[in-house]
Amino acid sequence: MLKGKTALVTGSTSGIGLGIALSLARQGTNVILNGFGDAEAPKAEVAALGVKVGYHGADMSKPSDIAALVAYADAEFGGIDILVNNAGIQHVAPVQDFPVEKWDAIIAINLTSAFHTTRLALPGMLQRGWGRIVNIASAHGLVASAQKSAYVAAKHGLVGFTKSVALETATTPVTVNAICPGWVLTPLVQKQVDALAAKDGVDNDEAKRRLLAEKQPSLHFTTPEELGALTVFLCSDAAINVRGQAWAMDGGWTAV
Ligand code: NAD
Repeated sequence: MLKGKTALVTGSTSGIGLGIALSLARQGTNVILNGFGDAEAPKAEVAALGVKVGYHGADMSKPSDIAALVAYADAEFGGIDILVNNAGIQHVAPVQDFPVEKWDAIIAINLTSAFHTTRLALPGMLQRGWGRIVNIASAHGLVASAQKSAYVAAKHGLVGFTKSVALETATTPVTVNAICPGWVLTPLVQKQVDALAAKDGVDNDEAKRRLLAEKQPSLHFTTPEELGALTVFLCSDAAINVRGQAWAMDGGWTAV
């Protein structure tokens, strides 16, 4: 049922975004990738699944780039049916030392970009009579941790934004939801593992164990494939009445 639809997954050259793009492509969904770094390898991985794949290198902190990305989707794919707002960055520091430019970048990329993609893609979804918006928030969209004020503010904001747009579209064939992952071992989290290893003087495996033990009761990392499967479910017909939810996949992190 997702065959022949088009998904835009922001920040999909690595990590969770790439996992979600591949899961959608396995359903026959055409995919537009976005993000920094090497795009050729992820493009080839998606294309190998037999769907049409595109790439646009928009910097999601820039509204004009985002407008160009959506225009590319309209011109090359006939519009966006599934919008996955996934691009995100992290910076860890106490609030009084938090670099102002890092705060601005986190709010722009992790929160404001979803406003721009949504406002630009939603009219087409409504016009074509089908759409799914999935916002990749975080356990930090539901609870806080110290030293992550910008990230926690952005992710709580993204959950609030999700609810508001879900209410605005509640009687339409477009659903809007958020997914709140716990720890997923991607480049974004490996940096935090490396910092913990250096601080505690332990090796990579012990640092991963400590990171999980602190927050994630399952003691397992959530995987991009699991998040891809949840995204596919939220895009299915069966999920038509799942609206405005912040769906945790966090090994029990937010159950405590
Ligand atoms: P990642 O660093 O592996 O991937 C981030 C992606 O975003 C990359 O493709 C990168 O190129 C892209 N990106 C970064 N800045 C960009 C910009 N300005 N414009 C366009 N693309 C940009 O990180 P990840 O762990 O896969 O994170 C993906 C999302 O999942 C983020 O929103 C993150 O907050 C969220 N998340 C991650 C975890 C985790 O444990 N890894 C947990 C909860 C939520």
